Amino acid sequence: MDFEAVIGLEVHAELDTRSKMFCACPVIDVTTAAPNIAVCPVCAGMPGVLPVVNERAVEYAIRVALALECQVYSTSIFARKNYFYPDLPKGYQISQYEQPLARHGRLVIQTSQGEKTVRIRRVHLEEDTGKLTHVEKDAQSYSLVDLNRAGVPLLEIVTEPDMHSAEEVRAYAQALRSVLRYLKVNSGDMQKGVMRIEPNISVRLLGSQSLGTRVEIKNLNSFRALERATAYEIQRQSELVSRGGQVRQETVGWDEARQQTFTQRVKEGEEDYRYFPEPDLPPLVVEEAWVEHIRAELPELPAARQRRFESQYALSAYDASVLVAEWEAAEYFEQAAAAAGGAPAKTVANWVSGELFGLLNQAGKDISASPVSPQGMGRLVRSVASGEINNNTAKTVLAEMFAGGQEADAIIAERGLRQVSDTAQIAGWVAQALAENPDQVRAYLNGKDSLARWLFGQVMRLARGQGNPQIIQAELERQLSALKN
Ligand code: ADP
Ligand code: MG
Ligand code: ZN
Repeated sequence: MDFEAVIGLEVHAELDTRSKMFCACPVIDVTTAAPNIAVCPVCAGMPGVLPVVNERAVEYAIRVALALECQVYSTSIFARKNYFYPDLPKGYQISQYEQPLARHGRLVIQTSQGEKTVRIRRVHLEEDTGKLTHVEKDAQSYSLVDLNRAGVPLLEIVTEPDMHSAEEVRAYAQALRSVLRYLKVNSGDMQKGVMRIEPNISVRLLGSQSLGTRVEIKNLNSFRALERATAYEIQRQSELVSRGGQVRQETVGWDEARQQTFTQRVKEGEEDYRYFPEPDLPPLVVEEAWVEHIRAELPELPAARQRRFESQYALSAYDASVLVAEWEAAEYFEQAAAAAGGAPAKTVANWVSGELFGLLNQAGKDISASPVSPQGMGRLVRSVASGEINNNTAKTVLAEMFAGGQEADAIIAERGLRQVSDTAQIAGWVAQALAENPDQVRAYLNGKDSLARWLFGQVMRLARGQGNPQIIQAELERQLSALKN
């Protein structure tokens, strides 16, 4: 039996506003702050307080909705989602339910099978919960409650069940993160939990159109965990169904140590939350003029930038996609290409996403903290392209630039790395190589064209990598054609 996986994603992304969703408390880094320093009666859920909507959070949410090509509704409704949990002091979460801010969007993703469109079902605003820390002390267990995160603006972005593999799920999550970062509404710092992903997974017989029973994996906060947990769950369900078993609708967690999912709870139905319109907030009305203003201010997004890189710089879809994934890397590349003085942009792209990314990775640095400036990188590539230095020398120079921060020209001059471009010396190497290989020269002159490459290699060997290959090539062609006549 062949199975097809069907997957829809719910992503929770915190919005990087200055204050919380319904109060004036600051949004802070909850992974480093002391507990409960950004809390007030509103976000602590005291009785008798009133929430006030953060306009900036609504603006950010509209930005995301528009970037995902959604329809933004002029009126949406906040709703209470009732449930009890110690990190939710009010006993309910303010969310949007029947009338969300936006629906019907799409995001194009890149996979090894090519481009694919994932439909966005809805985008709605809500508030984050607090955080619990479970500790053991004196053989007792305690749960500590930190409300710094309670009430932080949260955007929920839900797809249609359009994905069919762990690879597609990862590609979607990465593309979404990239969009959020381009829009500057979310840092994308997954280790800090600012973007959490919940895949809903079911399997069905290949060719079937109906949906199987789904399992929802809660709160994954790395792409690796997302990919592994998804692959695991697809495998588990396929095996279960092929043995004649039935998937139970449930919510599971991902056990990183065991690399398997585990049951958290058998899924509650929507009726358990007893959603109802939030009585303390009026309907959220957004004026069309405001939405259009936000649309006009949207930056060039990763997909558009990728298409532009492909046409403007003649890059492959893959090379372009690597460069546009991070806004900073795309900026870096464009500045380096501009400074490379006519060197092919493809060569610049290779140096940036190959050599430079490698060095940054090793050093654990972001591209924004690169010791090599984009201009410095561009000038280095120009030196390679013009034949002033060869590829291997350039790698050494780049490593030195990276370690010491000196400019390429200075390193090349100081260490005498410039390749020999002196035509007289090169002419001598060529003449010597031709004199040492009379049989091959004769064969070449009798029509064995492929020997030109071999003879080129002989000259390069005599030059011990010191000669400018472009000049050598030209000189070799000149001397060989002189022999022909
Ligand atoms: P809830 O909000 O109750 O979790 P929704 O019905 O809104 O559920 O769906 C949440 C996510 O699950 C969506 O991304 C949707 O595409 C996906 N989904 C729904 N049914 C299935 C299914 N049978 N298999 C896979 N994904 C599904
Ligand atoms: Mg869900
Ligand atoms: Zn507050």
